[in-house]
Amino acid sequence: MTDLLTTLLRRWQLPDGQGAAALQDFARRHGTPLYLYSAPLIERRIGELRAELPAGLALLYAVKANPLPAVVARIAPLVDGCDVTSAAEIALARAAGVAGETLSVAGPGKRDEDLAAAVAAEALVVVESLAEARRLAALANGRRPRVALRVNPPFSLAADAQMGGGPRKFGVDSEDAPAVLGELGRLPLAFEGFHVYAGSRCLDALAIAEAQRATLKLACELAPFAPAPVRVLNLGGGLGIPCFPGETALDLAVVGDALRALSKEAARRLPAARLTLELGRYLVGEAGLYLTRVVERKTSRGRTFLIVDGGAHHHWHATGALEGRRHLHFPITVVGAGRHATERVTLVGPLCAPHDTWAEDIELPVAGPGDLVAVFQSGAYGASASPQAFLGRPPAAELVIDRAAGLPEPLPNT
Ligand SMILES: *Cc1c(COP(=O)(O)O)cnc(C)c1O
Repeated sequence: MTDLLTTLLRRWQLPDGQGAAALQDFARRHGTPLYLYSAPLIERRIGELRAELPAGLALLYAVKANPLPAVVARIAPLVDGCDVTSAAEIALARAAGVAGETLSVAGPGKRDEDLAAAVAAEALVVVESLAEARRLAALANGRRPRVALRVNPPFSLAADAQMGGGPRKFGVDSEDAPAVLGELGRLPLAFEGFHVYAGSRCLDALAIAEAQRATLKLACELAPFAPAPVRVLNLGGGLGIPCFPGETALDLAVVGDALRALSKEAARRLPAARLTLELGRYLVGEAGLYLTRVVERKTSRGRTFLIVDGGAHHHWHATGALEGRRHLHFPITVVGAGRHATERVTLVGPLCAPHDTWAEDIELPVAGPGDLVAVFQSGAYGASASPQAFLGRPPAAELVIDRAAGLPEPLPNT
């Protein structure tokens, strides 16, 4: 953990550096709890990624990771489109300046209104079943909606969140795909290719590369059954960011090398196909901080608790509520307390629920009421992925910041 925390403290110029004064100032002006997203960090991350990806590969932003309109608007000009799942996300992306035909609409259980919005936007609809393809065709009204078939592969990505392999609600099982492709050819749909999403939150570059190779192989096997040449091969994504003790950053160079090799092979075996990656947390996760203030310090039977004003209702994943991870914790610091002595404390939120725990028994600089606590790696699956109305507490404010807003230039990763 120390290495990750050290990197993050440096990146944000904390605990006593220039970043501390800027964060104190934001918290004073906007109140806490508060999410801050650094536009320069998002831009730099996308730049680093682009530098490693083969030319021609399409990069999509998965809006669900952080759907704040100001965030989507910052990302829109830097990517080739967005991955969205609903009529509301389609509207959000379009309002942020994303062209309708660059949207990829995926997700199980799309309602007719989601499909209709996708057709109206001329988006690529990733159909997840034959029944869904039939519903889409039925509401096409003389148009030929563009479709890709999501295939549930026979493999999964050895990752935190597996989304392929075995029985799944996602996509069409690969063994059924040839028959479904035949049926798709009889519907008034414009077939464009395949979508395979094997898993997410993976920090192992070689595992990602292996899943991508297996995806190309699967697409090559299915291509002869397709009603038209494969023009889109969406490889999914799954690139993770380190959040918990012992996790280390993904080796992007290894991911890039493998993708460049894969892209050469794809050019040979599926010459019309454009490779696509769709990423959420990798683009925004590290660019976000959550700021919360200590309300109370108390001791209970020898244990010191710091109770802060933010909790699981704002940052469900970080408190461990969702993933049964109470023994783990996100990287956390006390802002502006670098020279204080440290102590072991349990950091908790204000909810009347035992799972509302940021970290049990961690070493933090000594802090008390009024002190500001920062939770790193908070740019993805934060506010929008949390039960914000729980216990009637107010939602967190969310702000996109740049250098112009007074935050010092974030420092490079290493
Ligand atoms: C959630 C999701 C993503 C984004 O996942 P991240 O882990 O945030 O990169 C991309 N594609 C699909 C189909 C998804 O369901």
